[in-house]
Amino acid sequence: MTKHLPTVILRHCPDYEPERIERLAVEGLDTLGLQPHGRTLVKPNVVASGEMFPHAYTRAEFVEGILRALKKRGSNIKELAVGERSGITIPTRYTFKNAGYYEMARRVGDVKLYHFEESTQVEIPLYHQGRLRDSFYTPEPVARADFFVNCPKFKAHPWTTVTFSMKNYIGIQDDRHRLIDHDHALNYKVADLQYITQPQFIATDAIIAGEGRMLTPLPYRLDMMLMGNNQVAFDAVCCHIIGVDPMTVDHIRLAHERGFGPVDLSQIRIVGDVSLAEAQERAVNFEVGLIRVEEYFKDTNIRAYSGRPPSQTDDYCWGGCPGALEEAIEILRVYDASADAKIPPMHIVFGAYEGTIDAKPGEKVVFMGDCATYQGKIGEHDVHIESLYRDRTELNPETYKVDDIFKKMLKVEQKFLGARKTEVMRMAGCPVSVAEQVLMLVKMGRTKNPYLDPRTSVDFVSCYLSSRTRTALSRIFGTPYQRSGPSVRGDARPAQNLPPAGAESESTS
Ligand code: SF4
Repeated sequence: MTKHLPTVILRHCPDYEPERIERLAVEGLDTLGLQPHGRTLVKPNVVASGEMFPHAYTRAEFVEGILRALKKRGSNIKELAVGERSGITIPTRYTFKNAGYYEMARRVGDVKLYHFEESTQVEIPLYHQGRLRDSFYTPEPVARADFFVNCPKFKAHPWTTVTFSMKNYIGIQDDRHRLIDHDHALNYKVADLQYITQPQFIATDAIIAGEGRMLTPLPYRLDMMLMGNNQVAFDAVCCHIIGVDPMTVDHIRLAHERGFGPVDLSQIRIVGDVSLAEAQERAVNFEVGLIRVEEYFKDTNIRAYSGRPPSQTDDYCWGGCPGALEEAIEILRVYDASADAKIPPMHIVFGAYEGTIDAKPGEKVVFMGDCATYQGKIGEHDVHIESLYRDRTELNPETYKVDDIFKKMLKVEQKFLGARKTEVMRMAGCPVSVAEQVLMLVKMGRTKNPYLDPRTSVDFVSCYLSSRTRTALSRIFGTPYQRSGPSVRGDARPAQNLPPAGAESESTS
C-alpha cells in the first residue's frame, strides 16, 4: 500500500563525484519505477553562477550524474536536454558558461542545451479557480517535454522562504513573463506555474545547500541528494528537514490545496540511507532568511520603511522590491567589501508608507516601486508621492517590455542626473529588479559596479551579444509565440481542475 504513496528518497552524498551521483540517480529511478523516454528535459537552477556566486546553482557535476543516469535507464530517448532561464538580465549563456555546463554537456555527449529566453514561447491556458491570469507562457522545450526532470538547488529564499522543487519553476519563463506577478503575489504565481507541467523525476543538489539568501547564499553542508516523484510531497519533506511547516510556505500550501500532492508525512513514503531524523540533525541550524527589509538593514546606513502593497490580503510585498534590495546589497558586498561604508546615510521607502521619514538635510530618500505612496513632511518640505501601480489584469505578457541591463544602466544614470538637486527620488517598476537596485546603490555609494567588473564583464558582454543576436534571429525567422495545441503539454492539472468540456475560461480573480 505504502509503495503507491508519493515517494521521497534521502541519500547520503558527501561530494560532487559524478559517478557517485549517477549511481544514486540510477537507484532512485529504479526505486520510483521510472524510465526516461521521448524528449527528456532537465531543468536545473542556474539563477547565477561562477566564482562570485559559487553556491547559487545546481552544480554541473550533479547534472552530469543525473544525465548519465537518465541515459542509462532511458528507453527510446529522442532528445536529452538541459534548459534554463537564469536570473533576470543575466544571459543564460553566461551562467551556463560560468557553471561549466558546456564542458559538462560535451563530456556526457548528445546533450542539447536550451537557453529559454531564446526559445519560442508557448501559451498554456489556465482554468483553475483563484488563478492570477488566464494563461501562462513557457518555452517550447518545456511545453513539449515527455519526461521532465526538475533538478533544483536546495536553498533558502528571501521572497518565498525556500526554493526547492516548485520554486525552481520561475526559470521556465523568460524575463517578460517572469516579471509579471513577481510581487506580493509571487507565491500564487509559483503555484499557478505548476499547471504547466509536473516533473516525473526530481533530484535536488543538497550536497552543499544555500542558506539565508538566493543569489549569494552561505554554504551549508547537508551532504545529501534528495529524489522524488511528486513535487508537493518533495518540497514538504525538504521543509520538514529544515524545521519549517510546509503549510506556512504559500506556494506549497496552495499547490497542496489544489490537489497536486500531500504535505502530511503520513501520506508520503520516505526511503533511503538517511532517515528524516538524521537529515533534520544535519540541517539543525539552517536559516531561511525571510527577514523584513526594515530589520535586514537595521545596522547599516540604509534606513528602510515599508507600507502595504496594493493587496487585500498581504501587508508586506514578500515577492517584490523589498527582497530585491536585500539581494542587491549582498551582491554589492561580494564585489566591494567596503560597500556598506561607502553608501551614505539614506532612506528607502516601499509601499503605502504612512509613518515618519527621519531624513536629515542632504540625505537621499528613494521611493522604491510603482506602489510607493507618501503624504507628509520630509525635513522642511511637504512631499506627496502618488502610486503608479497598474493592476495586474492590465498587464499583457505579449506586449510587456523588459529592459536589458545596458538600458537599465542608462535609465539609472538619467534618474540620478535628474535628481541631483533634490533629495527625494523615485525608482519606478513593479518590481524594481535586483539589477536596478544594485545600480541604484552603486550610484549612491560610488561602489564598484558588478556589471563592469573586469573579471567578468568581457565574458558577460560577449554572452549578452550572442544571446541577443540569436534571440533576434529566432524572432525574425522563427515563431516567437505559439498557442498551445495537441502536441504540447500544459496538462498538469489535478483531475478536479480540468476544464469542463467546451467551457470558456472563467474570469481572473
Ligand atoms: S512596486 Fe514593488 S513593492 Fe510594490 S507591489 Fe510591485 S513589487 Fe511589490
